[in-house]
Amino acid sequence: MEQKAPYRIVTSSFLAKLAALKLHSNRVAIVLGKTIYLYNTSKEEFLNDAKWLKHELCHIAQFKQYGFFTFIIKYLWESLWHGYYNNKYEVEARKAEEETLC
Ligand SMILES: [Zn+2]
Repeated sequence: MEQKAPYRIVTSSFLAKLAALKLHSNRVAIVLGKTIYLYNTSKEEFLNDAKWLKHELCHIAQFKQYGFFTFIIKYLWESLWHGYYNNKYEVEARKAEEETLC
């Protein structure tokens, strides 16, 4: 099967819904590998939000850089010790929102 697109988008994701409950936010995007899972937002709304898109594309780049399982472990480890907001991968993704590329 072709693997041309750098990412794919899944809407109304149950996984993203769980994250929305956990993070107490209504619109959520979660990245696993090259897939962006959305909850409470449409693909159009997400793609039209340049900052949000850049943030999630940065996470895709992080998955690519560290490898799927390694990145998940590193990410969870960071979250455990520093919390979601200060997790260095989130800090990096927030910085990417202001830049042209991650
Ligand atoms: Zn993030």
